[in-house]
Amino acid sequence: MNALAPTPAAPFYRPVADECAVFEAAHRHGLPLLLKGPTGCGKTRFVEHMAARLGLPLFTVACHDDLSAADLIGRYLLKGGETEWVDGPLTRAVRAGGIAYLDEVVEARKDVTVVLHPLTDDRRRLVIDRTGEELDAPASFMLVASYNPGYQSILKKLKPSTRQRFVSIGFGFPDPATETAVLVAETGLDPARAGALVRLGGHIRKLSGMDLEEGVSTRLLVYAATLIAGGMRVDRAIETAIVAPLSDEADVQQALRDVAASVY
Ligand code: ADP
Repeated sequence: MNALAPTPAAPFYRPVADECAVFEAAHRHGLPLLLKGPTGCGKTRFVEHMAARLGLPLFTVACHDDLSAADLIGRYLLKGGETEWVDGPLTRAVRAGGIAYLDEVVEARKDVTVVLHPLTDDRRRLVIDRTGEELDAPASFMLVASYNPGYQSILKKLKPSTRQRFVSIGFGFPDPATETAVLVAETGLDPARAGALVRLGGHIRKLSGMDLEEGVSTRLLVYAATLIAGGMRVDRAIETAIVAPLSDEADVQQALRDVAASVY
């Protein structure tokens, strides 16, 4: 690699508070970080941005209810009649001294916590049972996990014994000025129309809990802004990017259209 090659620009991220400084401090001190907040509020973008800023490779794993420790650590695979050990993303992140980002960690199977515990205390060690290897994480390695406290069932709460191993940042939806700036930067929509979408988002978020499981995400507002900036009529964009994705129920959808009509 050409040593003079410019590092790629970090993906756009507009800070809401001091989260960048907290991330940097956690990284500097070798502490794992938990990002708590609703879906689509910028957690993944934030991690991508910080990884690029720190010049570290990022290994992202979208956790799901079938995800096991072996999926993270690695397994023996059959290759041309021979078995060969293949590192999983967490092992690769530790070896590379990069950032491992476990998105929606609470979804993963229970055996995953067993792997995370020695990695999230002062041992910072990854134990690979199958090969007998024990990897000490280099100083630059960082474990970041996210979870959405909003829609976890009682069965799928993060256990205190796991939660108390992380420094945590609570994420909410950005304040209106920040969210408007995000829509403008992401889509090129003018500030006036971006601001109107953000106002609509604010009204819809007040409805959540009553009929909606969760308020409209920044991601959906970005989708709507993208369609409008691309020339779609505002009501069509709102219908396809906000009303239809948020609910399957006709009466809730109608309530959302009524809110939109009051803003536009
Ligand atoms: P999460 O990981 O919380 O589900 P994402 O990080 O995928 O959400 O965010 C969804 C989208 O919202 C991003 O693709 C980006 O367009 C936008 N976004 C949200 N917050 C910000 C922010 N503070 N700065 C830049 N973009 C943001």
